[in-house]
Amino acid sequence: MAGKGILLVVSGFSGAGKGTLLQKLLEKYDTYVLSISATTRSPREGEVDGREYFFRSREEFEAMIAAGELIEYACYVGNYYGTPKAYVEEQLALGKDVILEIEIQGARKIKECYPDSVLLFLSPPSAEELRRRLTGRGTESMEVIENRLSRAAQEAQGIEDYDYFVINDNIEDCVQQVHQILESEHSRSFRNGERIGKIREEVGKFQK
Ligand code: 5GP
Repeated sequence: MAGKGILLVVSGFSGAGKGTLLQKLLEKYDTYVLSISATTRSPREGEVDGREYFFRSREEFEAMIAAGELIEYACYVGNYYGTPKAYVEEQLALGKDVILEIEIQGARKIKECYPDSVLLFLSPPSAEELRRRLTGRGTESMEVIENRLSRAAQEAQGIEDYDYFVINDNIEDCVQQVHQILESEHSRSFRNGERIGKIREEVGKFQK
């Protein structure tokens, strides 16, 4: 792949299926990498430090903020979540498309700092389906689920800030759709300045 990678932000209500979507994208295509965030929330059953998240204490997280190690961070349902800068910049420079799975406040900050980034909002087909998926996961208390549903109501207000709105009804279709969006984004002329300059110079030689 030539050129710089794209920074893709994926947000969506908790339970929209972001995890499965990203896992499938990474399995299917080797052009994507996933940024691993730092968080102060406790690991869920089966989660491993350095794989799903870097699990940190509040003090450690605040030290990362102070050292300027995070591109953005936000508070979500009582915990800090943030994106480490070094990995993202290194992978973009290598031409990889870097995916951030972050909530809406973080997404807005990313668009401010990286105007060329692509913001995609993933939605379940209906609110009822969202409740069903969250309850079915069985990993959280009813109180946490209620908080996440209530947060979804707030987040629904900001969807227009995203470049793309994708509905996750059938996961395989959804993976294809997101991959196609990224392919199209790579073809946008503002991302192809170097190639355009080169072909312009070459055809310039034909001019009489
Ligand atoms: P969860 O606790 O379900 O893993 O994540 C809760 C929320 O935090 C999700 O909406 C997720 O997208 C968001 N999140 C995860 N990592 C980050 C991050 O680095 N920055 C921000 N702003 N949000 C994040």
